[in-house]
Parts: sequence; C-alpha cells; structure tokens
Amino acid sequence: MSARPNTAVDTTVSTPLAVLGRDVTVPLVTGGEVTYAALDYAASAPALQRVWDDVAAYAPYYGSVHRGAGYLSQLSTDLFENSRRTVAEFLDCREGDQLVFTRSTTDSLNLLAAALPAGCQVFVFETEHHASLLPWRDAEVTYLNAPRTPAEAVTTLERALADRDPYGPALVCVTGASNVTGELWPVRELAAAAHAHGARIVLDAAQLAPHHPLSVRELDVDWVAFSGHKLYAPFGSGVLAGRADWLQDADPYLAGGGASRKVARRADGGVEVEWHSTAARHEAGSPNVIGVYAIASACKALTEAGFDELVAREQRLVGVVRAGLAEVPEVKVLSLFGDDAPRVGVISFVVEGWNSSHFAAALSAEYGIGVRDGLFCAHPLVRTLLGSDPQDPGECGAPESEPGERSLNAIRVSFGAGT
Ligand code: PLP
Repeated sequence: MSARPNTAVDTTVSTPLAVLGRDVTVPLVTGGEVTYAALDYAASAPALQRVWDDVAAYAPYYGSVHRGAGYLSQLSTDLFENSRRTVAEFLDCREGDQLVFTRSTTDSLNLLAAALPAGCQVFVFETEHHASLLPWRDAEVTYLNAPRTPAEAVTTLERALADRDPYGPALVCVTGASNVTGELWPVRELAAAAHAHGARIVLDAAQLAPHHPLSVRELDVDWVAFSGHKLYAPFGSGVLAGRADWLQDADPYLAGGGASRKVARRADGGVEVEWHSTAARHEAGSPNVIGVYAIASACKALTEAGFDELVAREQRLVGVVRAGLAEVPEVKVLSLFGDDAPRVGVISFVVEGWNSSHFAAALSAEYGIGVRDGLFCAHPLVRTLLGSDPQDPGECGAPESEPGERSLNAIRVSFGAGT
C-alpha cells in the first residue's frame, strides 16, 4: 500500500473494562496471523466480559416473562423489570417516564413514529442516520439543511420552528453524536429551542450512549433511543425511554399478547380489546429477556468502572488516532463542525488516490484491522462531506471510484470506552 494506514492506536493504555474478542487472531493475506484490531465499534461493539458472564449465569434459569407462576418465570420477570429500573437509572429518567424495550434504535424510533399524535409535524436534519431520518415519512416532515456549526444547528431549528403552526404537535429528532464524524450535537440547546416553540424532541443516542453518561433529565429531551449492540450488549435489544403520554395514547406498536389487558368477543361478532397503558402496551409478544438483561448488565458495568474516566481515556485515544491520521498527508478526515468540535471515538476519512472500499479491504487483509467503508447509512451527510451532490441517489454501500479519483465513499474507524 502506498499510503500507510494509521496503525497508531496506543495499545499500552490500560484497559479498564474487559471486552470479548480482544485476543482473536486473524489470518493475513501476506501470510501469518495477527491479533485482530476491532475498530468498528460504531457498527456493533463486542460484548463486555461482564455482560457475557451475566448472560451465561442467567441462561440456565431462562423462563417466560410476565406469563408464568413457576420459579423460572418469576425469576425472569423480576430480572426483566429490574433491568428496566437499572436502565432508567442509567439514563437518569424522570418520574413518570416510560421505558420500552425494543429491538434497536431503528425499532425505537419507528415505534415513536407510529405513536405521533395526529397532525404532528416532524423536524429532522438531513445529516441524520437513516434510522432517525426515515421513520417519519407518514408525518409532515421538514428536512433541515446541514449546519456547519453547532450554533447554526440551533438557529436553523429555531427558524424552522418559528414558521410552524404553534398549536399543533411537533417533534424534533436529533442525534447526540454523529455516526460519521463522531461530532457531538448541541442537544441541550436544541431541546431548549424545541420546547420554546412548543415542540418535543427525541434524542437518537445510538452513538452517544456508549461514549458518554447521559441524563434525560439534564438534557431535557422528551425521549431517548439507543441500541444494546452498540453499548457492549449485542443480544438484540434496544430502548425507547421518555414521556409516557404519546406512548399511552397511541395504538400498540404490535398487537398481541402482553400488550392486551383484556380481550373478549363482542355481541356483534368482533373482538373487544383493552390495551395496557404501561410500557407493556408496546412490548407485545414474548420479550427478549436475555437482550434486556444484557443492556442492564452493560449499564452497570460502565457505571461501576467509572464512566467519566472511561470517557477521558477514550478522548486520549481519539487524540492518538487523529494525530496518527494527521501524519499521513493523503488522509482527509471528514468533519461537519470543524477540527475543534468535541467528538467521540468515531472518525471517518478518505485517502487520496484510494478507493475507500479497497483501502478498508486492504486494512483487513494485510493488517488485521477491521473498519467500515461506505456511506454509513447517512448518505446525504457523507455525500455533503465528500463534496458530492447530497441529492444524488447513487448506490448504497460502496460506489466505485478509481484510484486517483475523488472518493465517493469513506472509511470509518471507531472505538469506545471499552476498547
Ligand atoms: N442512529 C445512529 C446514529 C446510528 O449510528 C445507528 C446505527 O449505526 C442507528 C441509529 C441505528 O441503530 P440500529 O441499527 O441498532 O437500529
């Protein structure tokens, strides 16, 4: 490879959290094998050893939740509901907030989209991950142009909200930390702007929750959504937490057992249903108790390890990686808010003269480094950052560019508090 990729992750930094997969060796095309360097945590982070141990300890006692009088069922129900409390505490939820267990951030945001009150207007920046950009299409959506500073994000939102019908319901959806640039968005200020204009706000914390302690109360967001598999709990569960009212007023996300309190035949031949008004309303079917317990276990592990210290350590790693990349003249790091913007351990870049997909493949095959390439499910944002036309539908994944041509996609390295 002509431009040497950055391999400067400081492995001497002590590891406060035990993460699985650290000692996996992978074969290299050049012969031999090497310890795998997982640098794709923004896609999915490996389980913490503690999460794995907790799940393994519980597995023999697995039983149905909310459905049985037997010991295993009772134990599983306790574990499930205690997990709800642990996660709510981790998020610093308010009294009266509801915490619904889902499959993922995508699922959580689609659930909220299905619960919007009639006539709800939605405001979303075009820079969002598709999971927060797309679920609102049945509502009246205003897509906001990419801001180039956090302050511009706030003024852009304020301007858009000032034009709306002040009496109708409205929702702003914003990401806490970008899955492309790692940059932090001014969530508290955006929440204040939303509330000043009578709108509500949902925080997509898929990339924020694994990197920062977050407080629903302090940020004053109405809902927060995140995924277990990005928070070292890759067992298929996610979270939507926040205000109960819209969730209670909406039809259940899925109809079925667990969501229904009473069901009876009607004289006219139909069926009468009384739905639950708690989180159970949106948790129909047998829940993924292992996935839920895994999230709670990860929340505890991060808290007990000292999340603030983990953040400080991750920030040192961000500095090491960015300094390493800065030494390679062919590398251009992608940024919306500029070099000084606060960011988490998610860094995307292009390498002049290289097709990003080939570069990422070579990192894996020749160095045993796992990164992601492509448009990262944030096509309009990555196209803007690459200087392409954000309106160009293009190809998903890995559009081709020849060596020497401008890159049409990017490379992303990502790591976290448990790296
Ligand atoms: N939001 C952001 C910012 C993300 O990075 C992702 C996943 O990469 C999602 C939402 C969707 O998460 P999931 O695929 O777990 O639903």
